[in-house]
Amino acid sequence: MSLHNLNKMTAEMGNTAPMPVLFLGHGSPMNAIEENEFVASFRKLGKELVRPNAILCISAHWETKGTYVTAMQQPPTIHDFGGFPQALYNVQYPAPGSPELALRTKNLVTRTQVELDHKWGLDHGAWSVIKHLYPNADIPVIQMSIDYSKPPKHHYELAKEINSLRKKGVLIIGSGNMVHNLRMVAWNKLNETYAFDWATEANEKMKRFILNGEHQKLIDFKSQGTAFDLAIPTPEHYMPLLYALALKEENEKISLFNDKPVAGSLSMTSVKIEADL
Ligand code: ZN
Repeated sequence: MSLHNLNKMTAEMGNTAPMPVLFLGHGSPMNAIEENEFVASFRKLGKELVRPNAILCISAHWETKGTYVTAMQQPPTIHDFGGFPQALYNVQYPAPGSPELALRTKNLVTRTQVELDHKWGLDHGAWSVIKHLYPNADIPVIQMSIDYSKPPKHHYELAKEINSLRKKGVLIIGSGNMVHNLRMVAWNKLNETYAFDWATEANEKMKRFILNGEHQKLIDFKSQGTAFDLAIPTPEHYMPLLYALALKEENEKISLFNDKPVAGSLSMTSVKIEADL
């Protein structure tokens, strides 16, 4: 690393007030290019937040054996989906990476070996939402993968180890969906605010646990009954929520937004954690 870069990094990494933490319901990849109330509130949020030095995103769409952080200077925009209009494949989100932040993150984590990745980039779980928060793509973004071989408790504890990044101006974003069952999507109600009964039940229960700080019940999501089983048929879209919640300090406040269901079996409910001033 050149002296210039080292100085720049040290300056950027001075202690700041803790950045908020977000869990963003990303829903359909089409939210990247469509206009709707969800993306409007992402845009508004981007304007309200203190400008971060960098973003670390845990996306539902990067599952690996082991834990990786993207460490390239310029992460490519990954179009990790099929069957969508060309306009969606044309989207580029050319935010720089941050090899410095990747290394710093790797060094913070002790409960597992974090590897530096040079092959991934930004998947749509990251860019489809970050693009609305920061349309100029001028804030460095790294992603941290989700180790699919590890239990929920591991992810919750792992997230706690990177909490100090918040005081370095790093905005940590979990991107997924609390209720996410693609096999049960109501295809005739794709763009409608509509929920199956079990989806409403699961979403309401999750919200209650989130607002009451009952994290253990959310970690034990497999023991919460049928509605949870249907809402979380596979854990990847839910796990980023556990990362976000694990970062909440006791004296911080938590609020919900975009709290609406879509297409029967998805919820867009998003979470913001911030200092209670
Ligand atoms: Zn997704």
